[in-house]
Amino acid sequence: MTIAEQINQIREELHRHNYNYYVLDRPEISDFEFDQKLKRLIELEVTYPEYDDPNSPTKRVGGGLTSGFETIVHRNRMYSLDNSYSKQDLIDWEKRLQKVVESDISYTCELKYDGASISLTYEDGKLSRAVTRGDGVQGDDVTANIRTMHSVPLQIQPPFPDIFDIRGEIILPLIGFQKMNKIRLANGEEPYRNPRNTASGSLKLQDSREVAKRPLECMLYSIVGAQTLANTQFESLELARKWGFKVPEHNILARTLSEVFEFIEHWDHHRNDLPYEIDGVVIKVNSLKHQEQLGYTSKSPRWAMAYKFQAEQAITILEHISYQVGRTGAITPVANLSPVELAGTTVKRASLHNADQIAKLDVRIGDAVFVEKGGEIIPKIVGVDLAQRKSDTPKVEYITHCPECHSLLLRHEGEAHHYCPNVDQCPPQIIGRIEHFISRKAMDIEGLGGETVTLLVTNQLIDNYADLYTLTKAQLLPLERMAAKSVDNLIEGIIKSKSQPFHRVLFALGIRFVGETVAQNLAKHFKSLDSLIQASQEELVAVDDIGERIAESVRSFFSDSKQLEIVNRLKSYGLQLEAQEAAVPISTLLQGCNIVVSGVFKNLSRDQLKLLIEQHGGKVVSSISSKTSFVVAGENMGPSKLEKSQKLGVSIKSEDEFLSEINAEV
Ligand code: AMP
Ligand code: ZN
Repeated sequence: MTIAEQINQIREELHRHNYNYYVLDRPEISDFEFDQKLKRLIELEVTYPEYDDPNSPTKRVGGGLTSGFETIVHRNRMYSLDNSYSKQDLIDWEKRLQKVVESDISYTCELKYDGASISLTYEDGKLSRAVTRGDGVQGDDVTANIRTMHSVPLQIQPPFPDIFDIRGEIILPLIGFQKMNKIRLANGEEPYRNPRNTASGSLKLQDSREVAKRPLECMLYSIVGAQTLANTQFESLELARKWGFKVPEHNILARTLSEVFEFIEHWDHHRNDLPYEIDGVVIKVNSLKHQEQLGYTSKSPRWAMAYKFQAEQAITILEHISYQVGRTGAITPVANLSPVELAGTTVKRASLHNADQIAKLDVRIGDAVFVEKGGEIIPKIVGVDLAQRKSDTPKVEYITHCPECHSLLLRHEGEAHHYCPNVDQCPPQIIGRIEHFISRKAMDIEGLGGETVTLLVTNQLIDNYADLYTLTKAQLLPLERMAAKSVDNLIEGIIKSKSQPFHRVLFALGIRFVGETVAQNLAKHFKSLDSLIQASQEELVAVDDIGERIAESVRSFFSDSKQLEIVNRLKSYGLQLEAQEAAVPISTLLQGCNIVVSGVFKNLSRDQLKLLIEQHGGKVVSSISSKTSFVVAGENMGPSKLEKSQKLGVSIKSEDEFLSEINAEV
C-alpha cells in the first residue's frame, strides 16, 4: 500500500467510527482503539504533510483563529417557516394546498429543533462550506467551526450529486448545556441563559478550538438539490441518514391531517423526554413534485408549516424569596414556591436572577406567578397573575444586608448583582472558595468533599485554603464521622496536591473570571506567580483572551494584602507557583509521535527543541527504533544514528522542515 492509500484507509475508518459513535451512538471499537488509529493518522500526516486535507478526521480538534467571518450569499435562499398554533390553522392550510395540488397530499412530520440554522454545502461528497442563515439571502462562513462538530460528516458515501446544500439546526443538548454552566459557575461567571442562544453564539466564536470543546450537534432536515435521488421529503431524510448525517428517527410520514395531529399531541406531551429542546414540530408536504407546484411566498415555502408549542407553564404561589451567597459574594434571589407539577417534575424553586428582574416583574410575596421551564437548570418566573393579587400586598424590598454575615451589600456600576464585600468572614464565601480550590479541575484533593470543608470551617480548623496545608491528624481525629482511615486519606490527598501544576493552582485561587483556560493562558505567558503579581494592566491585556475585565480582576486580587499573605503561605508549603515548562500544551499536532533529536541546532537549543516537541504533544525518545516516528536532525548528527534510521526507514527532518511543519516561530 502506498502512503496515500494508507492515509486514506485510516481516514475512512475514522470517519466511519466517528459516525458510529456520534450519530448512531453505537461504537464498534473501544475509545482506546479509536485513539490509536487517530494517533497513527496524526503521525502519517505530520510525516507526509503533502497529503494534508481540511476534512481529515484529525481536524476535528479545531485550530486557527477567524477574526471576521466572510459574508457568503446562499446558493439557495434560506426561507423561514410560517407558524401555526392550532389545529384549525392546519386545516385552513390544507385547504389552501388542495387548491393547487389535485392528488392526495401526505406529510412528513418532523421535530422543530430549537437552535441555530445552518446550510452546509458538499462538493464531491466533501464538506466545502458551512454558512449561517443570516438574513436568509446571505450569512457568515463558519466552516472552520462546523468542522469540529462530530455529527457533521466531513465526507459522505456515494451516490451523491456533484454539489448540493443540506440544511440543519445546530443544537446544544441539555446535558452538555448543564455541564457548561456548572463550569461557568465554578469560575464565578454568569451561567448561560439557554441552550439555543449558547448554540448560536458558539457558531460565531473566533477560536474553533473553543467550539470543538462544546458538545454541539447538528440535526439535518432538508436537502436542496437531490431531486434525482429522492422523490419525497421522507426519502430525502432517509438519504441524508444514509450519507451519515444525524437525522432523528422520530420523523413520521402522515397520510392524513389526523395523523399529523396525533404526532403533534404526542410530542407536546413528550418533548421533555428528548435530550434536547424542541419548540414545536414542522409539517412538510411530502412529495417534492407537490412542493414544486406550491412554491414560495416572499418569506416562506407554501409547502411547510411550523406548529409552535405553548411554552410549558404552571401557575403557583410565591411563598417567599431567599437569597444565596456565592463564593464570589454575588447574591442571587431565589423564589420559593408552593410545589407545582411542570414538565414532568415538581418545581419548588425558581430563579429571580437579580434585583432588576424582581422590579421588572413587580413580583410580590403571595402572588400567583407563572413559572416556565426551558433548558435552564432551574425554572424561571415569567409573570404575575395580577387578577389574583390582594389589594394590600407590599412591594418586595430587596435586601440591603448579607443574609449570612449581615454586612452592607454593594453593587458595582454596570453589574446586575449585589455583592457581600465581607470576603474574609462571610461563611458561604469562605466555604465556597475552599470548595472551589479542592475541586476536580483545580487542586483535585482526594478524600476531601464539600461536607468535610463545611465541617472544618464550622469547627474553626480552617479559614482559607492555605490552612488546609497545616491540618494535623490530631486536629482531625476528634471530628464527627472522621475515621482514622479517612483522616489518613485526607492528609495524603492534601500533600499530593502540592505537585499540581502551576496553572491549576492559579485556577484554584478562585480569582473572579479566571477560569481554566484563562489560568492556562496566564501561566503560559507569565510562567510564575511572581511575574503575574507584578504584571501591569497593559501586560495582562496583551495575553490571549484576556480583556480589561479579567485583567482588572487579577490586579485587584493581587493588590489585596490578605490574598498576598495567603498566596505566600501556599508558596512556603511547596505548591507549584512556577510553570513546569512542558506542562502547558500548545497543540496535539505531534500526539502519538516518538521523536529522536540528534545533532546541533541553529535556531534553538536542544532543550528548547525538546520542550517544543512536548508542547505539541510529542514524546522525545533517546534512541532510534522501529517505533520512532522521525528524527529531527541538526548539524553533525551522529553517524550511528544516521545509519540506524536509514536501516529502519525512519525519516529524517531538518530543523527548518520540522519548525515549519509545526508552524513554530523562533
Ligand atoms: P422560525 O425561526 O421560527 O421562523 O422557524 C424556522 C426555523 O426553524 C428554520 O430556519 C430552521 O432553522 C428551524 N427548524 C428546526 N427544525 C426544523 C425542521 N425539522 N425543518 C425545518 N426547519 C426547522
Ligand atoms: Zn456576607
